[in-house]
Amino acid sequence: EKRAINGNIKFENVSFTYPDTGIKALRNVNFEIKQGQFVAIIGRTGSGKSTLANLIMRMYDVEAGRIIIDNTYLKELNLQDYRNQIGFVPQEVFLFSDTIKNNIAFGLDTVNDNEVEAAAKNAAVYNNIIDFELKFETMLGERGITLSGGQKQRVSIARALIKEPKILIFDDCLSAVDTRTEEEILNNLGRIMNNKTSILIAHRISTIKNADKILVLDDGQIIEEGTHNEL
Ligand code: ATP
Repeated sequence: EKRAINGNIKFENVSFTYPDTGIKALRNVNFEIKQGQFVAIIGRTGSGKSTLANLIMRMYDVEAGRIIIDNTYLKELNLQDYRNQIGFVPQEVFLFSDTIKNNIAFGLDTVNDNEVEAAAKNAAVYNNIIDFELKFETMLGERGITLSGGQKQRVSIARALIKEPKILIFDDCLSAVDTRTEEEILNNLGRIMNNKTSILIAHRISTIKNADKILVLDDGQIIEEGTHNEL
């Protein structure tokens, strides 16, 4: 049965080891994100940030501890139904050999042009798209054009936004856009993120200064937690 989530996320003593390599990526991680909060995750390369995001997406099951969504164990939720309510922008963007429109509307049952355009605007990629001769019908991939790294990231962000998800997760997806474009996206997101739980994995301080909470990861552990002013 379909169950709407509110977007409260809680990690209780979560540890995770990659089964194939034996790398212990998260150790005893505890934190709570309330519905509607904006949480930033920072930390050195390899500290476990993507792993944490992937566990929220339930790409893997935890090794020890538990993840609780609202009042339910994540492992007890219907996976497809749950993931449909999350806008996830992975670190590695994947686009298809299809039109820009279909890439943005990926996973939706129906494609609404107005919604596709609004998502593109909010992701600050609309102006790039309408510069192409075929605009939203432009083909990507082998038989089409190649977007720049930053444009790909923004198409991927548009794909997450169009779902109007309860939870938004951005895994380092602003790395290939310049600071001005980043600012534009963050301004748009400020509006969109209002009443959504948002998790942003980031490097630039400028990206995270408005976060309700910043989690600092090091070697799979949370070593600090607080607001930008507190840290
Ligand atoms: P970055 O900032 O470089 O993206 P990160 O903080 O996101 O790093 P993770 O990608 O979560 O770090 O990696 C944490 C640890 O788990 C690292 O030691 C990494 O090598 C390992 N790791 C990540 N993904 C996998 C995987 N699919 N299989 C095995 N080990 C992995």
